Amino acid sequence: MFCVNLLYSLNKIVVKCVWNVDKKASDLNIYEVKTLKTHVFFVDKNVDDLNTYPQILQAASYLQRGELVAFPTETVYGLGANAMSTTAVENIFVAKGRPSDNPLIVHIATKEQLHDIAYDIPSVAHILMKHFWPGPLTLILPKKEAVSPRVTAGLNTVAVRMPNHPIALALIEASGLPIAAPSANRSGRPSPTTAKHVLDDLDGRIAAIVDGGATGVGVESTVIDCTTEIPTILRPGGVTKEDIEQVIGVVDIDRALVEKGAVPKSPGMKYTHYAPKAPLIVVNGSSTFLQQLVNEKRANGLRVGVLTTEERRHTYEADIVIPCGRRNDLRTVAQHLYDVLRAFDKTNVDIIYSESFPNEGMGVAIMNRLLKAAGHEQVVEK
Ligand code: AMP
Ligand code: MG
Repeated sequence: MFCVNLLYSLNKIVVKCVWNVDKKASDLNIYEVKTLKTHVFFVDKNVDDLNTYPQILQAASYLQRGELVAFPTETVYGLGANAMSTTAVENIFVAKGRPSDNPLIVHIATKEQLHDIAYDIPSVAHILMKHFWPGPLTLILPKKEAVSPRVTAGLNTVAVRMPNHPIALALIEASGLPIAAPSANRSGRPSPTTAKHVLDDLDGRIAAIVDGGATGVGVESTVIDCTTEIPTILRPGGVTKEDIEQVIGVVDIDRALVEKGAVPKSPGMKYTHYAPKAPLIVVNGSSTFLQQLVNEKRANGLRVGVLTTEERRHTYEADIVIPCGRRNDLRTVAQHLYDVLRAFDKTNVDIIYSESFPNEGMGVAIMNRLLKAAGHEQVVEK
């Protein structure tokens, strides 16, 4: 910890030196984003009148000034900026190191705000909103001109959702703005489910964070394109395909989610994501098979981690065994997944083997994130 603080202070001294000696913009850009003081606002999500709560009002004023504020949603922590301001939105891409062709989701607190950003809203979208908002379902709709093209990476559609979290709703409403917000992690890292995760990744790079405790769902929203004749799921997430079909009938799934090599319609889906520092391999087979793989690596002198579930945590012998929720309730696996992936980074394992999960219900989103974290490295038992 001492070392980290020392490095951080040295970094600030270096910034000062650069500033004093030579004010070249290229030098400053290297350090600029690391020198903000990140304010932490603690807010209890259960207090009454969150909309007028001083910390929320202060965080909202940062958003109005075009600054970045991380905040909890029911899925993961988001990194918010004014969706109508190109400069504000550009700050998100800088702070996260996010590729500029990966569009952002716009978060709103009221249905009225929808009409500031989208038009020609199909009736199926209204039905979905009625059933799943506020909640972890993002709708792709035709975009209004006023939304910054940086939000949508130049697409003529916009992704919108209303989060089901009192702090997120209060903050958006207090700001009076639609808020563009990707997950509040450095690009490529697991999404943050606690304020501590956000600070680990973005301290010194963003103006503020509202710490409202751990998030609930744990994986991001489901993204559904409502501009196609049959609505199409572009990213599996907190609302399952089965849930959606119960409400609007059959939906399509983007080919890229099931076919290797197909180009995803959701630009963000092509990037490796959520990766822990050690290589991760997903094992499709029995516990005995997974244990054999562990034994082989350990025999070669490697330190091996296993990602398992509460039910099977005592089945394995490895250097580190971390359970991730309960297999008999996949929602708990989704809830803990990113925290567990980050927990492996705090160990010294050389390789991680993970169990697989059934490819249905919440298991679809879990397997999608796990395989992305593994760069699609998978071993199947013959
Ligand atoms: P993130 O904010 O990192 O959770 O990711 C948002 C996801 O929504 C990414 O996979 C984006 O590619 C996707 N997305 C955002 N806007 C659009 C859009 N207009 N069309 C298709 N996908 C989108
Ligand atoms: Mg993300």
